[in-house]
Amino acid sequence: MKTIGLIGGMSWESSAHYYRILNEETARGLGGLHSAPVIMHSLDFAPIAQMQASGDWDAAGRQLNSAAKGLVKAGAEILGLATNTMHIVADIMLDGVDLPFIHIADPTAQALLADGYDTVGLLGTRFTMEMDFYKSRLVSHGLTVLVPDVDHTNLNGIIYEELCKGIVREESRRIYQSAIDRMAARGAQAVILGCTEIGMLIDDSTSTLPTYDTTNLHARALVHAALA
Ligand code: GLU
Repeated sequence: MKTIGLIGGMSWESSAHYYRILNEETARGLGGLHSAPVIMHSLDFAPIAQMQASGDWDAAGRQLNSAAKGLVKAGAEILGLATNTMHIVADIMLDGVDLPFIHIADPTAQALLADGYDTVGLLGTRFTMEMDFYKSRLVSHGLTVLVPDVDHTNLNGIIYEELCKGIVREESRRIYQSAIDRMAARGAQAVILGCTEIGMLIDDSTSTLPTYDTTNLHARALVHAALA
């Protein structure tokens, strides 16, 4: 099995889920006492979030590039970035990094298509819902993507002010449920939890639409690539 390099900490709450899923999926694949060979560079999220807020994407990309190069030196053989949002700077991060990279949107789109869905709702940070980098990747797979037709401030704030700090509130769950219901009414057949913390708040048991959790799908795809 190849060694997985993971750039995490954005937030560490979701990276902890990644670590568990990487190991569980490896054990499922190989049995016995097998666990995932993984090297994680977990960043301090506060300065990254500051760069996001000020739109300093180049600086954030350079920081991820240096983390990726460090993982190559440390022996990583495939690479994952454990946040949807920071895929905005995937190209900068990968500059001079010669490793297979598993883009988080790819296994997500593949899972939806395999289940027969072509029109999906997308939940994520305001960057993921409003900028083009993520939606266009899904569209390139043949999906039609809807985002909530409400002000995104609340949905975005719940990620940064609550979920990234491990806070899960029933009132916030209702706000997400209502956003899902409105996208269902506009034709969404399923919903992408396109932020690696949303799975803490919403799952199939609390959503009217089937959920596609990017943390789960991405971590499992990294293991499958490492085992191939
Ligand atoms: N983990 C989140 C995501 O998947 C948001 C935090 C971040 O901005 O990286 O987009």
